[in-house]
Amino acid sequence: KAKEKGFGKREFFTGEMNAFSLERLRLEGFLRKAIQKGELLPFFQPQICMKTEKIIGFEALIRWQHPELGLISPMQFIPLAEEIGLIDEIGRFVLFESCKQLKQWHDEDKDHLSISVNVSSRQFQRLSFVYEVKEVLELTGIPAHCLNLELTESTMIHNVEYSISIMEELRELGVKLSIDDFGTGYSSLSYLKDLPVDSLKIDQSFIRHLSEDYFNTSDAAIIKAIIMMCEGLSLTTVAEGVETFEQLKLLQEYGCHHAQGYIISKPMPSIEADVFLKFYSLTKNSQT
Ligand code: C2E
Ligand code: MG
Ligand code: MG
Ligand code: MG
Repeated sequence: KAKEKGFGKREFFTGEMNAFSLERLRLEGFLRKAIQKGELLPFFQPQICMKTEKIIGFEALIRWQHPELGLISPMQFIPLAEEIGLIDEIGRFVLFESCKQLKQWHDEDKDHLSISVNVSSRQFQRLSFVYEVKEVLELTGIPAHCLNLELTESTMIHNVEYSISIMEELRELGVKLSIDDFGTGYSSLSYLKDLPVDSLKIDQSFIRHLSEDYFNTSDAAIIKAIIMMCEGLSLTTVAEGVETFEQLKLLQEYGCHHAQGYIISKPMPSIEADVFLKFYSLTKNSQT
């Protein structure tokens, strides 16, 4: 039986080979070696507090720096990693590296900073996930409340009861939870009141066209409604994908708590984030 399977596999190679499967196989092979080769690394994008305009933390966003293919976006390899089961390893790697980086910042007297890490659906469903988070906290020594895990609606509604129990265990560790890309999933609002989360990230598709003189005011209406709802639910609101000053100003006016986007900075390697932290606090200090 095993032989038959093996044979079938070979047929796949010699048979109907198209450009897509070839490219995919190549990418798959590369990805398997990427971690060992040190080609995967988190970039960091700052988040600011709307009231103080100070940096409160960073979101870790994985990048794949391939020597020949260049910088590959997570959109291209995270789904592949999920499919071939590599996401567990990648997820643990990003979590560990991000917490390690935060620890370094904390040791440099920036202990007000927090780190947000994206969690994929498969990673979240793993039985050992809570244990893995606990282990990373212990190994790196960062306070649990400085770690924020970003989950998407589809991850949480996959199996609502199970998800809630895991989320509660995570919150018992002291970890913060947030809903990423809010407004793009299919979860009903009735779930929202039962989900043990601390914050909600308004998806960038609502922010993208937000402007003062825009003839279509529907995005503004949705954003304002989300912020009001979060106010009632005692959830922190984070706007992602803020690209213009106008958007930043409007979101501030609407009472959005935190912001993240190119207007503040693109995601950057840790060395640049270091410089950004120094520079940013310098400009802030010289203003006050
Ligand atoms: P996300 O978590 O919603 O991250 C926000 C995405 O928006 C990031 O894309 C970020 O670079 C981009 N972005 C931030 N500010 C702006 C802006 O002002 N304008 C525009 N146009 N884009 C902005 P990125 O880094 O390509 O990541 C894409 C998605 O890949 C993430 O969406 C997340 O779902 C996933 N991802 C990234 N890193 C990880 C990871 O370590 N683990 C997992 N499981 N998923 C990850
Ligand atoms: Mg995210
Ligand atoms: Mg998002
Ligand atoms: Mg997204």
